[in-house]
Amino acid sequence: MKIIMLGAPGAGKGTQAKKIAAKYNIPHISTGDIFRANIKNGTELGNKAKTYMDQGLLVPDELVVDLVVDRVKQDDCANGYVLDGFPRTIPQAEALDKALAVIGEKMDYAIDVDVPDENIVHRMSGRRACVGCGATYHLEYAPTKVEGICDTCGKELILRDDDKPETVKKRLGVYHEQTQPLIDYYTNAGILKTVDGTVDINDVFQTIVNILGE
Ligand code: ADP
Ligand code: ADP
Ligand code: ZN
Repeated sequence: MKIIMLGAPGAGKGTQAKKIAAKYNIPHISTGDIFRANIKNGTELGNKAKTYMDQGLLVPDELVVDLVVDRVKQDDCANGYVLDGFPRTIPQAEALDKALAVIGEKMDYAIDVDVPDENIVHRMSGRRACVGCGATYHLEYAPTKVEGICDTCGKELILRDDDKPETVKKRLGVYHEQTQPLIDYYTNAGILKTVDGTVDINDVFQTIVNILGE
């Protein structure tokens, strides 16, 4: 099962992708997580990506396409995978389709987690990320057991720099301009499924399970 998560920044793609990965036993591939790990390790890719990410802009297609295409060819992706944060532009989607066509494969589902802009800034200001394992929480909607401490690994939680309201507004603009056209792209491909992302986390997941099958 090969799945793409679509949706605005903060719509809940990562939250749902993690649950999908656990239930269907497939890898969760988050380009944002890959870039943040590279930034943390001070790699050349990380340094390049950071200048764009800090401004709320997309990292150029050429820095992200090969990375994902190489990743999905690894052995653990043989039974499928869930892509979170990729593709984010039409050229990225086309490059993915092309790379899969070469090996006789195609994506099965593009799940659009639909949340209006009005909800997004509030969601993002409450998002907290673990500095250790990258787990994501929310002050109100997905709180940790002990405030400020990751349930999974015990490390400290932070507000991502790019989750501050000014950058979030910028990222929303970038989303509408560069990523939203993918909704038509995957509608035309016949694989788009839209789910209401404004309901409770577990209710969103149940809708997704109804689509993907038990
Ligand atoms: P969110 O979870 O809030 O949607 P991500 O963690 O997916 O954000 O991405 C954070 C940032 O990483 C993006 O704002 C962008 O700068 C960069 N990024 C992640 N994935 C891509 C991609 N596929 N193409 C270009 N830039 C990307
Ligand atoms: P994305 O990967 O699309 O940027 P996340 O999965 O990181 O989004 O979710 C953004 C924030 O909103 C996180 O703090 C998360 O805990 C919270 N969140 C996710 N889904 C929901 C939901 N259905 N209702 C309320 N809060 C949610
Ligand atoms: Zn952690």
